[in-house]
Amino acid sequence: MSDPTPNRRIAIADLRYASEMPAIPAHPSAPTGHVADRLHRPLHDLRISVTDRCNFRCSYCMPREVFDKDYVFLPQSSLLSFEEITRLARLFVAHGVRKIRLTGGEPLLRKNIEVLITMLAELRTPQGQPLDITLTTNGSLLAKKAQALKDAGLRRVTVSLDGLDDTVFRRMNDVDFPVADVLHGIEVAQNVGLAPLKVNMVVKRGTNDHEIVPMARHFRGTGSVLRFIEYMDVGATNGWRMDEVLPSAQVVERIAQHFALQPLEASEPGETAQRWRYADGQGEIGVISSVTQAFCGSCNRARLSTEGKLFLCLFASQGHDLRALLRGAYSDEQIAGAIGLIWQQRSDRYSQLRASGSAAAGERRVEMSYIGG
Ligand code: SAM
Ligand code: SF4
Ligand code: SF4
Repeated sequence: MSDPTPNRRIAIADLRYASEMPAIPAHPSAPTGHVADRLHRPLHDLRISVTDRCNFRCSYCMPREVFDKDYVFLPQSSLLSFEEITRLARLFVAHGVRKIRLTGGEPLLRKNIEVLITMLAELRTPQGQPLDITLTTNGSLLAKKAQALKDAGLRRVTVSLDGLDDTVFRRMNDVDFPVADVLHGIEVAQNVGLAPLKVNMVVKRGTNDHEIVPMARHFRGTGSVLRFIEYMDVGATNGWRMDEVLPSAQVVERIAQHFALQPLEASEPGETAQRWRYADGQGEIGVISSVTQAFCGSCNRARLSTEGKLFLCLFASQGHDLRALLRGAYSDEQIAGAIGLIWQQRSDRYSQLRASGSAAAGERRVEMSYIGG
């Protein structure tokens, strides 16, 4: 009989199933609304992956040779339910989380995602404020879903779009999806008030870098903020090479040759993007330089995987199994205590170590589609 899980997939499956059972403090104290890690970074931002599935096969994220028809995605029973996600989110908020981003895989593929948004929109900070809830999507289902998302309480969306040229875009999503449908989704989202909308473009040198200026020209003056992301070495399957990374400084230079730019101050602590405004007032752009200018020093983000493992870094190889606590007989106090302990012990700073040449070589990492971007 042939092996149903060929070697090339075992690495990913092994990592998905590897996890640490969180320690429960003997006498958990109530969360204080602030918890800091070993590098004094607070917990502020929670990214929740609601599905590991996607209808695109972007080569930098879910290359089709790996995520093919034989790839075993998580079964429905493994996924956190909306009630489980909301229970955890409430505990994270008690520790200081103010921003929740739903992601994936493609989050709009999760059935009834708007119900989850309604549940999360009801959460309040200890000061009685609503959370900043947002979602990152490939935009393919946005035209259909935008109104329901808005009605459920979503405030904003980020749409990933890697080029305006239809041939380039179809090649990058690798499922022949037309760019016009994503552009239509963006328009519908703007019309229903999911704004200000952000558009994320991953730049791969030699693949779509010639789309930088056309993208800037297209989104200038529309109210949408275009952000350029350096192609990252996330996961273990995308065949990342440094020579395919176009440093953000060059992105800015290329745009500045056409439109005068002025730097902007960060608008919030831990902001990942460096921001620039068009000197003529036609809006702003951002660059996210994860490779050439690591921002680990202010990284206040935790990631909750589709099946409830807590990851402390995009480049982690192991998560902390919060689902085991949710599905065990643990109280909110105990689970909140466990989350606090995990965060206090965090010292992750992969991008900084990569930049200084001291990142552990050859260490395997979970896929971005599993822990969420
Ligand atoms: N499917 C949704 C989407 O594409 O927006 C949400 C999940 S996706 C993993 C989240 C973000 O991660 C997207 O903006 C995507 O472009 C980005 N991303 C994925 N792989 C990346 C890589 N290797 N380097 C940089 N960004 C990446
Ligand atoms: Fe899917 Fe988003 Fe990954 Fe592309 S980047 S394969 S759209 S999860
Ligand atoms: Fe945060 Fe890890 Fe990225 Fe550094 S490498 S910014 S610690 S997610």
